[in-house]
Amino acid sequence: MIKLPEPVEDVVFNLLRASNTILPKDVGWALEAAAAWESNPTAYSQLGAIMDNVRKSELLSRPMCQDTGIPIFYVRGRFDSSVAEDIKKGLIRATKEIPLRPNTVDPISREPYENNLGEGMPIIHFTPTDDNFTEITVMPKGAGSENMTKLVMLNPSEGREGIVKAVTDAVLDAEGKPCPPGVIGIGIGGTADKSILLAKEALLMPTGDENPDPVLNELEEEIFIKLNSSGLGPMGLGGATTVLGVRAKKAACHTASLPVAVNIGCWATRRASARIYDHEVKYSQEGFF
Ligand code: SF4
Repeated sequence: MIKLPEPVEDVVFNLLRASNTILPKDVGWALEAAAAWESNPTAYSQLGAIMDNVRKSELLSRPMCQDTGIPIFYVRGRFDSSVAEDIKKGLIRATKEIPLRPNTVDPISREPYENNLGEGMPIIHFTPTDDNFTEITVMPKGAGSENMTKLVMLNPSEGREGIVKAVTDAVLDAEGKPCPPGVIGIGIGGTADKSILLAKEALLMPTGDENPDPVLNELEEEIFIKLNSSGLGPMGLGGATTVLGVRAKKAACHTASLPVAVNIGCWATRRASARIYDHEVKYSQEGFF
């Protein structure tokens, strides 16, 4: 039996509040840096409006966007099956009290569920380890950016060049729909489903940090420069800031396959994590600890 210092339900509530009301520092810094180099007046004013909105949401403890998203949870470390039920309870409370927009509906009838639950919800990814903590991370994912997700099964002969083209095409084809500038998550390899999981997980990597894999680091930099030279700009209205960051993860794949997935984070690329030890809980907004 694992003894916890505060109920998991409360930790989940705190994570949902933090992630929806406080933009992660790295994303905020990237917005400030973009505003400093942006010379297009429309782009500059769009970035200013976004930053003003971010400041107000933190000050008033209110969600930074009306779309509070679908919360995606990642649970790592030691845990038992009760954690899923506790996450649901925290989500129901957060939907009422923060409040979060009740976003979930039946996919066919479109009937709403009212509490952000429903069949298969919330999405929780479990990774058991022998660590002495339970780590819970939440990523509220808005529909505007999620709807622009792309999966391309490249011919392996298309190689690195094909990857760069698939990613830049996906982002530029999306135009202003995913509320740029945001963070681009890229998943390379694995299988079709694995590459999409990797692309979403890549959004949990802090913007601006060097990728520990030098090959991916170079790829991220190349795509970052290409996209910010495209002229698409904030909200697709023109300018030098189309993306705040590009993050990539990879996995081994079949010799005859090259899956490439793109999961776009909007300017509100939100996340929060907690590590629950026996006697304390540590919070962070830098993705996985
Ligand atoms: S894409 Fe992001 S910023 Fe745009 S409406 Fe959705 S959650 Fe809000």
